[in-house]
Amino acid sequence: MTTAPDRPLRLAIIGAGPAGVYTADLLTKAERDFEVSIDLFDRYPAPYGLIRYGVAPDHPRIKGIVKALHKVLDRGDIRFLGGVDFGTDLTLEDLRRHYDAIVFATGAVKDAALDIPGADLEGSFGGADFVSWYDGHPDVPREWPLTAREVAVIGNGNVALDVARMLSKQADDLLVTEIPENVYEGLKSSPVTDVHVFGRRGPAQVKFTPLELRELAHARDVDLKLYPEDFEFDEASEEAATTNNQIKTMVGTLTNWLVEDQDTGASRRLHLHFLQQPVEILPGEGENAGKVAGLRMERMELDGTGNVRGTGEYIDYPVQAVYRAIGYHGSPVSGLTYDERRGVIPNDAGRVLDEDGNPVPGLYASGWIKRGPVGLIGHTKGDALETIGCLLEDEPDLWTADVPDEQAVIDLLEERGIEYTQWEGWLKLDEHELSLGTEATGTGPVERERVKVVAREDMVRISRG
Ligand code: NAP
Repeated sequence: MTTAPDRPLRLAIIGAGPAGVYTADLLTKAERDFEVSIDLFDRYPAPYGLIRYGVAPDHPRIKGIVKALHKVLDRGDIRFLGGVDFGTDLTLEDLRRHYDAIVFATGAVKDAALDIPGADLEGSFGGADFVSWYDGHPDVPREWPLTAREVAVIGNGNVALDVARMLSKQADDLLVTEIPENVYEGLKSSPVTDVHVFGRRGPAQVKFTPLELRELAHARDVDLKLYPEDFEFDEASEEAATTNNQIKTMVGTLTNWLVEDQDTGASRRLHLHFLQQPVEILPGEGENAGKVAGLRMERMELDGTGNVRGTGEYIDYPVQAVYRAIGYHGSPVSGLTYDERRGVIPNDAGRVLDEDGNPVPGLYASGWIKRGPVGLIGHTKGDALETIGCLLEDEPDLWTADVPDEQAVIDLLEERGIEYTQWEGWLKLDEHELSLGTEATGTGPVERERVKVVAREDMVRISRG
């Protein structure tokens, strides 16, 4: 075993979402006999990745994770460098010169593709794109075309529920959250009356979680609608509903809603359909040519194992917008091999692999870009722990940076004219957003904790003072 040189190990982490912050935090706390110096990069001027740009604004409990991440970054032993796009502003070659090891925690932010005719029609939207819009992502347009009265949401995961909830909820009930002004205005103008959520399998095969499902019942002026013909349980469903508490709870909740048959005359309805698979998004005619005018679903039946097969029976729903919430997908990372099918960086327990399946020294992956977009935020910790374990094991061979000086990378960013932001900048932006919330509380009908700043140039200007 070689001894560590007389300097800290320089580590770059790409992505300041939960995966990146957990990785940095766990490494600083790990038992080791060398010092570390960590730079945590993000392409956005603000930290927190998926929490800031993926969690629905009316989920303050999850946003609370931000408090824990804030504590980590506020300690001062991890340097945050925002507004730096890996692959554009800094290349793999640059990082190799300045760091001994690099962890990629770039997540998965794109929509998985739904390969059916009509998926490209105007009015067919990716769920992840809509999430980015309502979370005030700097890189998506400020306007979202909310003109449909009847809307379909495809998928039975938590993102589908988020999307359906945000589409059906009364905009005024979201004012207490941190939604940006443009999002409130957009949702307020929406003429939507019916939101249909479609699962291709049965009520015992949903991917939601119980808390998120039950939340649907609390929306004001929204009636829940369920249909008896969608309630089918095969042997595998019965078994899941007796052996898995989560499934048991959700089947119970859904069955109660079915029996209760809500009809309060609310101005909006949220329909939950099961055992229906999308076959085609139907185009309109005449002035609606090229636009979504309907959704054709095939009725499915369970095959005994919890999977489904088609019945050959089709149902057309007259909807003017379709949201595809069938899962996220990763994006290639510049300079690394990429598994297009799974949307991940090929890796072995976090060690990045080359095209021949051999570990690339000094390169690691963590979070959704490592294992795919499944699991709750907390699960990312286990990932980070595994990746850090590999890094600690490889440590004796890692000391390879030619220019390990901490200032050198800052000089490089300055030289290239990159408007990077730092932790102090985030503290300024954070305070600014909170003060906008106080201001809006003074002039509006409800208490608002925060109003998000959306435009990248504004985020950078406020952060950089
Ligand atoms: P997900 O949980 O994987 O759900 C994807 C859904 O899309 C499944 O119901 C799946 O059905 C369906 N689907 C996939 N391909 C389809 C197709 N071709 N046609 C019709 N349906 C299709 O993905 P997600 O909702 O994007 O969530 C990703 C992760 O983030 C999950 O772990 C989720 O729990 C988490 N998350 C949590 C929260 C929260 O509030 N706690 C919020 C958002 C996301 P099958 O099951 O039949 O494949």
